[in-house]
Amino acid sequence: MPFADLRQFLTHLEASGQLLRIREPVDPQFEIAAYIRKTSDTGGPALYFESVKGSAMPVVGGLFATRRLALEAMGTDEADAIAAFLAAIERVSAPRLIAQGACQEVVKRGTEADLTELPVVTHCDLDGGPFITCAVALSRDAEDGTRNASIYRFQVNGKRRLAVLAEPPHHLGIHIARARERQEPLEIALAIGLTPAVLLATQWEAPYGVDELELAGGLLGEPLEVVKGVSVDLNVPAHAELIIEGRVLPDVQEMEGPFGEYTGYYTPAYPKPVMEVTAITHRHDMIYQDMLTGEPTTENHVLKMIPAEASCYAMLKSRFPGVVKVHFHGAGGVGLLGIVAMEPQAPREARSVLTTLLGAQGTKIAIAVDSDVNVFDVDHVMWAVSTRCQPHRDVIVMPPMLGRQLDPSAEGFGQYGLMGIDATMPHGQEFDQVARVPGVEKVPDLLALASKATSSAK
Ligand code: MN
Repeated sequence: MPFADLRQFLTHLEASGQLLRIREPVDPQFEIAAYIRKTSDTGGPALYFESVKGSAMPVVGGLFATRRLALEAMGTDEADAIAAFLAAIERVSAPRLIAQGACQEVVKRGTEADLTELPVVTHCDLDGGPFITCAVALSRDAEDGTRNASIYRFQVNGKRRLAVLAEPPHHLGIHIARARERQEPLEIALAIGLTPAVLLATQWEAPYGVDELELAGGLLGEPLEVVKGVSVDLNVPAHAELIIEGRVLPDVQEMEGPFGEYTGYYTPAYPKPVMEVTAITHRHDMIYQDMLTGEPTTENHVLKMIPAEASCYAMLKSRFPGVVKVHFHGAGGVGLLGIVAMEPQAPREARSVLTTLLGAQGTKIAIAVDSDVNVFDVDHVMWAVSTRCQPHRDVIVMPPMLGRQLDPSAEGFGQYGLMGIDATMPHGQEFDQVARVPGVEKVPDLLALASKATSSAK
């Protein structure tokens, strides 16, 4: 993981032609989100908005708009990504406390702090307001001492007020609930503009009590450097662009939402806990980072893929050695739709893989294919479903059970039925042979050749 901070990653993307600078002034209300939507839908570049109306600070977004960009962030390629992630979590390291960090070049305490100076983006047309969407929230439970670092959404409700959606079993939600039971505020710090290692680390589904910043150290190959917060007893990433410190109040709630969420639908407005800002610190020339979610596929979905796939691959592989690839497709919000490629070792083993995946991960629709099928190519997967699966024989349907929270078709909150589709060829039986053209891998990149021919003809 070669990037110690956000800037190193941006420099790499720009040098390799994967970052586009937008120089014309853009509006943080909808316009920035529209650009990120477009680059997400067209497999485009990461975006750097140099001039944002109403703020002195530039904005970057779409940094993980495509899987290619996420692989760039990891400094790896598709063939090695899962192994690289699994190796990183084997070498976690505690953050290293240093005396000074660029994230505190500018310090604004108390009433000097003003969220409305930041170029916080409003994304979808019915959203309840501007939302901070790419903040890693850091917290610690005063009683059990556990730390947590994860991405949550925060609605700007005033100069020093953010409404917080984080409910148990989410780990920040547990910290908030435990503090509320003690009638105490919960100290919290939001870190924005970080090395991609921290963002990827937060997407590992680590159990309660695991500090995701230690996993970030694993991905970085060295401890993440942190400094003491200026108004809270929490350590914050030293090389972040921006830190928002504050406390979640035990007895105050304000409206939060609606917000266009990762399933592609709005979640409704209702009262949520409030974070009161105690300080804002940032670099002199800070860059604000936004992240779009909503209708798949966006950077929010892509960011989750590799950690989720690594976690699931390790779980399945330990029980079913024939599993070769797992993909959580964006269409399912990275979770509801899982595709597994495998070399079945025994008759009906694919069914065991399917029910394990459905039971363990909150996956709603699981598809098993043979190892010759490309799990990232839904056309290819649906070819296998269409030609290797007999619905009356190979589809497993299970009654509603407790799964993920946001499926809008659920019959009760988080309760939905499950379906497994076995699209592997029957094990040990004759099956028609796939008709293949030999030598395709030897043919050069034809699009590149065509554009070369066009440019030399001019
Ligand atoms: Mn956690």
